[in-house]
Amino acid sequence: MSKAKILYIEDNSENRLLVRRVLEAEGYCLTEAVDGLSGLQAAQADPPDLIIMDIMMPGLDGREATTRLRSIPQLQRVPIIALTASVLKGDRERALAAGCTGYLQKPLDIDRLPKQIQEFLDGQRESLDPSDELEYLREHNKRLAERLEQKVERLSNISEANRRLSNMSLTDELTALPNRRYLDRRIREEWALAKRFRSPLSCVMIDLDHFKRINDTFGHQAGDQLLQALAKVFSSCLREDDVVGRYGGEEFLVLLPQVETTNASTVAERIRKRVELAKLTVGSEAQAVHATISLGVATVSPDDEELTEQMLVQRADAALYRAKAEGRNRVVAG
Ligand SMILES: [Mg+2]
Repeated sequence: MSKAKILYIEDNSENRLLVRRVLEAEGYCLTEAVDGLSGLQAAQADPPDLIIMDIMMPGLDGREATTRLRSIPQLQRVPIIALTASVLKGDRERALAAGCTGYLQKPLDIDRLPKQIQEFLDGQRESLDPSDELEYLREHNKRLAERLEQKVERLSNISEANRRLSNMSLTDELTALPNRRYLDRRIREEWALAKRFRSPLSCVMIDLDHFKRINDTFGHQAGDQLLQALAKVFSSCLREDDVVGRYGGEEFLVLLPQVETTNASTVAERIRKRVELAKLTVGSEAQAVHATISLGVATVSPDDEELTEQMLVQRADAALYRAKAEGRNRVVAG
């Protein structure tokens, strides 16, 4: 008769080696898993005749792995023998409450181990004292729920950290507006939507007038502060669906989904006026400079079959260039 298949789930490699030697010498077929999760996978992939389960393991511990194993139909009746170095009162009961069939204490008695394993294979079952059973089951469930809570909390911390990371790489550090990378991606997405739904899409390219002179005269810090103040004005005068971001240097880009040329020019003019009225000033008294902006507007309509998304930005850029050439502080639609 071929000997039983045993799965040993244990994080300590010396214990694994020891038990392997002892049980293989008796002719058992032993497979190993180094933690609770890989133990679950191994047990499901090839259901064993018996599982020896270490209790203290990182990640999913032995009791949690046992309870999980018991929920898998083909593993409900497989003997699971808890193995632990802990001698705390109630450990045996806690292992049984988690679904273990029996309990062996470390250090293992090597001479007795094969016989003990065979007894469990032959059907030996330990059971909880009925007067204690309910209390231990409650405790086990409470602990599972608490551990789950901790894990969910850790996961949400991780996803929060990831969210911040990805936020960072799509956000311009100086102005906290979306950056060029975000804008390029968003333009592609809005472009695809506009084509699909045959809706217009407008783009406004904005440039701060005389930025070089401002930097040269008042320093880069003053220039940076002005860009930050401008970003706030832009954010305050757009609809929820509109996108404004820093395209680079002193250039900003506004994307207006489902907005026609005329309306886009109106929005651009409103932005220009807001900036003018905000009287953003650098320098003081005689030297003071009020910030103004030039804007170039471009729109694609559903009929522009041959246009590409790059051309939308190029057209806005060309219109902006004309606004500069015509004297700045104005809107030109291309
Ligand atoms: Mg361990």
